[in-house]
Amino acid sequence: MQAFASFGDPQPGTGLANQARMARARMLGLQFDDYEREVRSVLNSLLGPGGFDAARDILAITVNRWPHGYARDHVDLEDADWNMEPAPETIGRQRFGNIAIANSDAAADAYTHAAIDQAWRAVNELASPADD
Ligand SMILES: Cc1cc2nc3c(=O)[nH]c(=O)nc-3n(C[C@H](O)[C@H](O)[C@H](O)COP(=O)(O)OP(=O)(O)OC[C@H]3O[C@@H](n4cnc5c(N)ncnc54)[C@H](O)[C@@H]3O)c2cc1C
Repeated sequence: MQAFASFGDPQPGTGLANQARMARARMLGLQFDDYEREVRSVLNSLLGPGGFDAARDILAITVNRWPHGYARDHVDLEDADWNMEPAPETIGRQRFGNIAIANSDAAADAYTHAAIDQAWRAVNELASPADD
């Protein structure tokens, strides 16, 4: 069984970027015991009525922490300094000699199709000689 937990409790009045930073700090500050307690109590409350018993039915718990799960996207309402031309990701993915920049961050878009598009662009950039 896999379970995903999110630490992004909504904080009205706090921008999305700051909320993401706060959630990341909270996640990294938790110890394994904290995750274990949460997993056991959530699964017991969800599945207990159906006969599940965390003490009996959980064999092992593995915790993978993704502090950077998703590339940062543009949020029109609060990202005035991001919504400029050229966009920050366009500046950040500039080829540097024989180094070309791929990945989803290079598109400021969290999903796999963006990473694939950026990989295609980066590889094609290397098909032409470097400027320097
Ligand atoms: C929980 C979760 C669920 C997701 N679900 C979806 C989904 O349903 N659909 C979707 O489209 N996208 C989803 N995504 C997003 C998707 O995983 C990313 O968009 C995609 O993996 C980005 O690809 P990437 O190549 O940019 O980076 P990554 O896939 O992160 O690849 C980077 C690689 O570089 C390696 N690396 C890092 N540092 C070094 C180093 N110094 N030397 C060598 N190697 C290094 C890493 O080990 C990693 O293998 C999900 C992401 C998460 C975290």
